[in-house]
Order: sequence, then C-alpha cells, then structure tokens
Amino acid sequence: MSGDDGCARLLFCGELAGLLRCGHADGCIRYPLTRRASIKDVVEALGVPHTEIYGILADDTPCGFDMLLQPGQEASLLPADMAQPWPVDVTRSTLLRPVPLSVLRFVVDENVARLAMLLRAMGFDAAYDRNWDDAYIANLAAEEDRFVLSADRALLKRSGIVWGRLVRSRNPDGQLAEVARLLDIKRAPAMFRRCLRCNVATESVEKNEIIDFLEPKTIRYHNTFRRCPKCGRVYWPGSHQQYFSRRIEALGITSR
Ligand SMILES: [Zn+2]
Repeated sequence: MSGDDGCARLLFCGELAGLLRCGHADGCIRYPLTRRASIKDVVEALGVPHTEIYGILADDTPCGFDMLLQPGQEASLLPADMAQPWPVDVTRSTLLRPVPLSVLRFVVDENVARLAMLLRAMGFDAAYDRNWDDAYIANLAAEEDRFVLSADRALLKRSGIVWGRLVRSRNPDGQLAEVARLLDIKRAPAMFRRCLRCNVATESVEKNEIIDFLEPKTIRYHNTFRRCPKCGRVYWPGSHQQYFSRRIEALGITSR
C-alpha cells in the first residue's frame, strides 16, 4: 500500500478546476482526511456544488456521492461534458442521479431572473419569484422535480437539490447558451405559449373579446391573440416576440 500521509488525492477535471475556491489551476488537490467525510462533502468544502459533478471515479471505479474517501485514495471528478450521457439527459437515471426528471422544467433563482423570461418565451415551465429564498427554491425543486438554475453556490450545495446548474455567464443570452449546450436544447418547445409574468400556459382568445384593451395600431395589424388565464395579459406576434425570437435564433436554437 502507499505511504499516503493521511491524504486523498482529488483531480477536478475540465471546467471543474476553474470552480475550485482556492485556485488550483491544474485541478489537483491533496486533501487531508481529518474526519469521515463523503466525497460530496469534500467536493463542496472545496467550493464546487455537487450539481456540477457528473461522474466520480475512485481509483478508476465509478461511485456515488456518498462514497467515503480513504487515505491514499485517488478520486477524479468529471464535469458534464466528460461524463456519460453527454449532453446531459435529465430523463435518464445515472449512478449519481438515480431518480431522473420525468420532464424538463426549471426553477430559476433571482440572480439569473432574466434567464427565466427567455425560458418562458421558449415555452419552458420556469418557476421564479423574487421573494423565494434558498430553502423555498430547494424545496420546490424536490417537490416538483425541477432543474435549478442559479449563480449561488450555497443554494446548489443543498442536498435536497439533485439537478441544477451553476450559471457562469453574466448576461441572459450567454446563460441560455450554457443551459442549451448542457441539456442539448436545439428547439424551443412552444414559443410564446406561456405568460412571461406568471409562467402559466396562455390560451387563444378572439379579437372581439379583448378589442377594448388594444391600441388602434394593434387592432389594425394583428388578428391572432393569446391571453394569460391568471393575469389577463394579452400577447400577439408583434415586435416584442420578434425580438425574443432573434435572440434565441442567434444562439442556434430553432424558435419555430
Ligand atoms: Zn400572466
């Protein structure tokens, strides 16, 4: 056996190296095992939320988040694009995430709120409310099987959260590009079928039912309308929708 000096050797592969709190650019860390700790606890103590890990190899054997590190052991942590399946398929069970999501839907943290609007415009169920705290978001993710999007590492370290992404980009279009690459989103499921404000599905409505609320120009040029059953907001294929479509298409995502 090795002269292990009471340490385990951890290798954070690919983009995970850049997430380490103490700046080990090569991703290689000798970790002193002063207490019994699962690999999940150790990884998160080093600054990397478990949501970013898609594969763990301990002495070349795949293992789960609850694996207890031993002195002398070598563990490699793999990011999504170095593990299988890639791109990530949330509807497939894996060793690290045995319970898949039945359908891809999101809960979005306040720090990436504008990403929620883009996802809603595309037709995704993207729950968001600026008043929700970390505990509420983690609970909602667990109860409703939602994929968490956040720039907050502390939130994503919560054990109730199974699926999530530490969003790196500062701007919403870059954030959507990250999520689309990770989850292989190439097409918007249903453009402009969801209320941007309430996240509920809109319903088609006859023009004469809402004509009193429309501007003269809108009455003249538009005949197709949808309405949110919750807040009553009316949507039509005007310049605002074209603006959303252009942004989404610019990321290589088909919007129609
Ligand atoms: Zn609404």
